[in-house]
Amino acid sequence: NASRLIGKTVLITGASSGIGAATAILFAKGGSNVILTARRADVLQKVADECTAAHKAAGMQYGGKFVTVQLDVSDKSQINGFLEKIPADLREVDILVNNAGYVVGVDRVGDLSMDNVEGMFSTNVFGLIALTQLFVKDFKKRKTGHVINLGSIAGREAYAGGSIYCATKHAVNAFTGALMRELVDTPIRVTEIQPGMVETEFSVIRFRGDKSAADKVYEGLQPLVAEDIAEEIVWAASRPPHVNLAEVFVLPVNQA
Ligand code: NDP
Repeated sequence: NASRLIGKTVLITGASSGIGAATAILFAKGGSNVILTARRADVLQKVADECTAAHKAAGMQYGGKFVTVQLDVSDKSQINGFLEKIPADLREVDILVNNAGYVVGVDRVGDLSMDNVEGMFSTNVFGLIALTQLFVKDFKKRKTGHVINLGSIAGREAYAGGSIYCATKHAVNAFTGALMRELVDTPIRVTEIQPGMVETEFSVIRFRGDKSAADKVYEGLQPLVAEDIAEEIVWAASRPPHVNLAEVFVLPVNQA
């Protein structure tokens, strides 16, 4: 029942584009407050404005709040003290969506740059872990909360040219599974969403800006769109409190 989302506070990392932005807007439509975080403050503000518009268009009587807080999850110094940057009336977060992530390059192991390897790990894995730790401490005190992590089909299998991205998403899968089991005696829920191909900015970033190389990947199939994944995230968050949707694996119909 979507009404379970009314008045909840959701924090989303990587909310400036793609899946994160679509998820922010869908939660806003459902009546939740949203704290939008990412590195690009100007783009984030545009998404926050879209949240306000979507909330109003959905006829929500509840006056949802949509705030932006700049955050680079790969920067440890920004995570310490991050809670204090959230406006005081929204500091009791109910749902954390660890969505920030990226892949640059389809590089064979011999061609990997260690800076690139560290960049992917520090965003996709270390940032996700640090933020989860911060909020789970608070969730435990308040005996409530839901952590939703973006894994990937790349966390279930590995492909040539994807060694590091696959390794980061396997790490997300292992971390999320262990966390769920650690929290089994609490009301805190833990979900991992594992999308297949979704056409977002991610697709172009992955090919270092080469749009035609990015488009080739989708030849012969219709990729998912960000809204398809947002729907799964919001669905998981709106289940009754005793239901934990542990893993959601979502593919375009012609991807296997
Ligand atoms: P996008 O590139 O559209 O969005 C990625 C978001 O992450 C952006 O908002 C970006 O914002 C943010 N981001 C990147 N690095 C950082 C950082 N260091 N700190 C904070 N925010 C950061 O990609 P998607 O929406 O497709 O990807 C979202 C998630 O879904 C990722 O975890 C990705 O791995 C996963 N995924 C995507 C798939 C796909 O095919 N698209 C398939 C499976 C999983 P900014 O630049 O403003 O910081």
